[in-house]
Amino acid sequence: MSGEYSDEALRNRNVSIDISGEDFRKLGHALVDDLAEFLESLPNRKVVNSKSVKEVQALVGNDSLPQGGTDPGTLLKDTTKLLADYSLFNGHPGFMGYVTSSAAPIGMLGDFLASAVNQNVGAWQLSPVATEVEAQTISWIAELIGYPSTCGGLMVSGGNMANFVGFLAGRKSRTPWDIRKEGIQKQTRQLRVYCSDATHTWVHKAADLFGLGTDAIRWIPSDLDQHMDVEKLELQIEADIKVGFIPILVAASAGTVATGAVDHINKIADICEANDLWLHVDRAYGAMAAALPEASEDLKAISRADSVALDPHKWLYAPLEAGTTLVKNPQDLSDAFAFNPDYYQFDLEGDQPPTNYFELGLQNSRGFRALKVWLGFKQVGGPAFVDMIRQDIQLAQAIKEVIDQSKELESFTRHLSITTFRYVPNDLSDQKAEQLDYLNQLNEALLTQLQKEGEAFVSNAVLHGTYVLRACIVNFRTTLNEIEKLPEIVIRIGRSLDVDMRPQPS
Ligand SMILES: *Cc1c(COP(=O)(O)O)cnc(C)c1O
Repeated sequence: MSGEYSDEALRNRNVSIDISGEDFRKLGHALVDDLAEFLESLPNRKVVNSKSVKEVQALVGNDSLPQGGTDPGTLLKDTTKLLADYSLFNGHPGFMGYVTSSAAPIGMLGDFLASAVNQNVGAWQLSPVATEVEAQTISWIAELIGYPSTCGGLMVSGGNMANFVGFLAGRKSRTPWDIRKEGIQKQTRQLRVYCSDATHTWVHKAADLFGLGTDAIRWIPSDLDQHMDVEKLELQIEADIKVGFIPILVAASAGTVATGAVDHINKIADICEANDLWLHVDRAYGAMAAALPEASEDLKAISRADSVALDPHKWLYAPLEAGTTLVKNPQDLSDAFAFNPDYYQFDLEGDQPPTNYFELGLQNSRGFRALKVWLGFKQVGGPAFVDMIRQDIQLAQAIKEVIDQSKELESFTRHLSITTFRYVPNDLSDQKAEQLDYLNQLNEALLTQLQKEGEAFVSNAVLHGTYVLRACIVNFRTTLNEIEKLPEIVIRIGRSLDVDMRPQPS
């Protein structure tokens, strides 16, 4: 053989990336020991050890691409320490920001296991067990939330992708021409999609990416409680049909991202049925609450949706990333996504055709995301998830209660496990309307300071022009103790900022 490497070198390749079984065992044990310690230490750490961008860049190091190696034991140890010292911990009991959950430890181990076996869950033949585990995970999620068991679905990276899959299935199903082949270029008639103005930003991306353009979105106003105004939806659809637009899809929210509000899904489903529109429900956050026996009729009305997007990395406490799309009619997924290139021969002989997930979604090669979710279900069972979700909701109610007990705090909404509130200095409580701008600025500064201090972590929302703090509990580590501490923290920071920020009367 010609070339730089001798036959001998190619026969006994000295590949430094590989690690012997013995070393792997040692490295793995040491890593697991460090991580166990890290997890135990979480409650005693701050939610975040705030550093500037520059400082963090310096911590990561400004070196160029390494030209040599590092001992993997040292490498893992140092990297674990770096991450443990300077990350923001959504697994901290005091973390109540956004909708990011604490990760279940079984899921962490599941991800490790999944990458060790390294299945390509694009095709059954490449991942027989993993494909069936994913299929089972999908059907368990459907069962948990009361979606028809005959549904199809797949795992994706998160809520945005899950919504895209539903959007594309709906686009294909309800566009009156072959949109996959012809696109929208030749058409003079324009498609329209409908959602409330409280919808998460995924819908901008979907309308943009999938060729409709954001002008195709009809933003239906939401009422004061953040629900889509159903009458306005109906009128808008009617008006659009009259002038020749083609309505194809309504995206309802079950647990809006800002406040957790659940749209009137039953009424929206009636309108979709009457107009033959695809009903997609973005339940990325709220979906799992449908598992509660006491869930509202609207939450339970998911069984009427053509597609549902939800996030196991939210209320099933799976480590990132894990999103799921459920589609009522499984055929809609292959209709929307399958192509049959001749370099893939994955149709096996046998009585039951295998599931090849690459035909049912956007990805080709796919990781084994289902495993961490499946292990969680197996570890504790469905009812335990129902309990954890119910407790999260009860803790959010408790936040509202402790807020309402304080004269300096004002609560706004409480839907699912999200409570919104703000700080109002005592002497301004009669002038909230006149002082709106100041109170917005004050609460915005308050949030920045609170996040920086790292004792607790909440995020924000803007409700019809009012800037509010927003606590969202999707965290099995949060207890009543953290909830009861929250008012103190907010009031202390609020008072001190008010002294500095209050405009002097001129
Ligand atoms: C979180 C969320 C999304 C986005 O999901 P990602 O997992 O962050 O991609 C979309 N819609 C709603 C209602 C959400 O709560």
